[in-house]
Amino acid sequence: MSTEAFIELNQVGKKYPTEVFAGVKNVTALIPKGKVVAIVGESGSGKSTLLKLIYGLLSPDEGIVSFKGKPVLGPDEKLIPGHDSMKMVTQDFSLNTYAKVYDNVASMLPNTNLKYKEEKSWEIMKFLRIDHLFNKRVSDLSGGEQQRVAIARAIITEPEVLLMDEPFSQVDTPLKTHLRADIKRLSHDLGITVILVSHDPVDGLSLADEIIVLNKGEVVETGSPEQLYNHPQYAYTSRLLADCNLLTKDEAKKLGLKSEKNMLAIYPEWVELKWSWSSKNFILIDSFFKGVHEELLLEKDGVKIRALNKNIGSFKKGASVAVVLEKFLEFAD
Ligand code: ADP
Ligand code: MG
Repeated sequence: MSTEAFIELNQVGKKYPTEVFAGVKNVTALIPKGKVVAIVGESGSGKSTLLKLIYGLLSPDEGIVSFKGKPVLGPDEKLIPGHDSMKMVTQDFSLNTYAKVYDNVASMLPNTNLKYKEEKSWEIMKFLRIDHLFNKRVSDLSGGEQQRVAIARAIITEPEVLLMDEPFSQVDTPLKTHLRADIKRLSHDLGITVILVSHDPVDGLSLADEIIVLNKGEVVETGSPEQLYNHPQYAYTSRLLADCNLLTKDEAKKLGLKSEKNMLAIYPEWVELKWSWSSKNFILIDSFFKGVHEELLLEKDGVKIRALNKNIGSFKKGASVAVVLEKFLEFAD
């Protein structure tokens, strides 16, 4: 196999004309073929801008975006904006809501081969489990079903790359599991490279092969979900990917943790709870039932931390709880 990058971003910058910085800057990244890549970051961090630059809906001011070694043409250089080998599913789905599901999907193909058009439409509808809805109007479908129609429309022309902007934002939690599985199948079964954007990185963690973390338009770090979750290089990443306890050096000291670094992060599941009394104990301020576990809010010397407790109800509010903090992450800032 060739080692040539599939999608390559080299020092890419795009600035929108505003007083504060808006856009992306100095983005260098490689996106491998056939993988699911998640671009994550706070709202306004430049995720959608980056997606549009990859697709060619925007031209970079600086640097270059290339696909299979050739520069991606911007909107001024192309009659129909967007790379021919890519498709993008946006948050609004862009469906014809008055038309039936079958027609929404089939209309993406030309009439030059009607037999192929019909067969392919059914194949794609089956793949996305919307074949039973073929005769329904899109306006009568649920959000999750509409999303699958939008994906069907995008992949029926067999693009090499599927770009998805916030695909999980309009889907209820139970349907998210199905959507994640569908997106994985696109990449694993059909070989489509999927680049998705999410402001909720939990979606990216459970789905992506690779995550690109953006902050204020710049790439903070990239890596596999496991790498970034367990060994983030920056506090921003740990805060984004996990609902962790972030402590300043002073706060950490009050909890008996010694560190030369300025910030420490402790994931709630790393906090060990013990039943024993000591003057070093924490006080249980509050507890939040989460189903399989509860989250405890503990305090010591004015410093609060959250911990997971699997033995729900084992500590009462106001109780003195012994806490073992052995595992933590350290950051320079
Ligand atoms: P995200 O998708 O991560 O929320 P965006 O890529 O949409 O972020 O936006 C990044 C930054 O650029 C934000 O500060 C946003 O306000 C700004 N921005 C996005 N689109 C435009 C535009 N067309 N004109 C001016 N500023 C924009
Ligand atoms: Mg966006």
